[in-house]
Amino acid sequence: MAKSAVITGVTGQDGAYLAQLLLGKGYDVWGVVRRSSHFGVADHRLRWLGIAGDVRFLDANLTDLSSLVRCIELAKPDEVYNLGAQSYVASSWQQPLLTGHVTGLGAANVLEAVRIAQPAARFYQASSSEMFGLIQEAQQNERTPFYPRSPYGAAKLFAHWMTVNYRESFSMHASSGILFNHESPLRGIEFVTRKVSDAVARIKLGLADELRLGNVDARRDWGHARDYVEAMWLMLQQESADDYVVATGRTTSVRDMVRIAFGHVGLVAEDYLVVDPTLFRPAEVDILLGDASMAKSRLGWAPKTTLEEMIHEMVEADLDRHRRGPVAT
Ligand code: NDP
Ligand code: GDP
Repeated sequence: MAKSAVITGVTGQDGAYLAQLLLGKGYDVWGVVRRSSHFGVADHRLRWLGIAGDVRFLDANLTDLSSLVRCIELAKPDEVYNLGAQSYVASSWQQPLLTGHVTGLGAANVLEAVRIAQPAARFYQASSSEMFGLIQEAQQNERTPFYPRSPYGAAKLFAHWMTVNYRESFSMHASSGILFNHESPLRGIEFVTRKVSDAVARIKLGLADELRLGNVDARRDWGHARDYVEAMWLMLQQESADDYVVATGRTTSVRDMVRIAFGHVGLVAEDYLVVDPTLFRPAEVDILLGDASMAKSRLGWAPKTTLEEMIHEMVEADLDRHRRGPVAT
């Protein structure tokens, strides 16, 4: 019989790539979609990948435990991937309580729903390198102490420890992937790589003449979402659950990433880049660099896409979108 999986956050970047991966492996894929007045727009990433008709939608919200219990009862999944979140760090200072409810307590709700309705299901929590925040070691691994620097990071840390606690308290197969930044043409337009690829495409096509950014000295360990969802799946195929760092092991400044993007279309970044102090954050995560040795040795996982390949793919996708007409996402 085909395996089945429930994905919260299926309309987001990772949800879309994970759904594609699982469908390719023959899974029945159920995706949690929250009600909004824009139904039909919410699945644009699934449509971009050509899989919208293949995912069975479940109507639920991470803040509503009863809706999640009903989803799990209906789908009876073998695997549950909790990818849903208020995932944008900058917004988490504007909406700290909502971020806590959705990103933190929402994970506890999903864990509870699984414990109540399908305790044998394997569970994946989308933890984040933002939990390392003010880094305590030059390269971060599973044993590096956490020091979150935003309401988002703090909410993710709560969700992370709840996952560990459900594993230890109830013997649930609950794993947490501490994923470093990962991007793609399906990344939300507010995140820096996509903001850059979109602006470079518009500048190249004569639709814009500058790119305004905040702290361009920040450094991130950027990988491709398509590679990272494979690590999520691999974690749930292991005999026992655990926590894994997923990263490339290379850190690059925002400024250098911008140069790669402009270079791809034959332009010079410095001619268009404007540093805008109003875009700086109340507290910054200056640098992230992950050590994914455990994922490599235990899961056999390694990133396949370089930063250059990924940025080129993103710029090409945005050029294509803008050539076809005005687009928001
Ligand atoms: P996105 O922001 O693209 O997707 C977030 C998803 O969560 C969307 O499907 C969104 O639905 C859904 N969601 C938000 N609020 C609720 C709610 N109240 N109830 C139900 N669903 C909700 O994130 P990514 O795909 O980039 O990331 C996936 C997960 O991985 C997130 O938890 C993120 O925090 C985490 N993560 C991401 C990293 C990255 O670099 N991308 C790094 C480390 C962790 P809607 O479409 O309706 O908005
Ligand atoms: P994050 O690591 O999850 O916060 O991912 P982002 O893509 O939002 O930000 C990555 C880094 O880019 C952070 O250090 C930001 O401060 C920095 N950055 C600089 N300018 C911008 C900008 O205009 N937008 C965003 N989103 N980030 C920016």
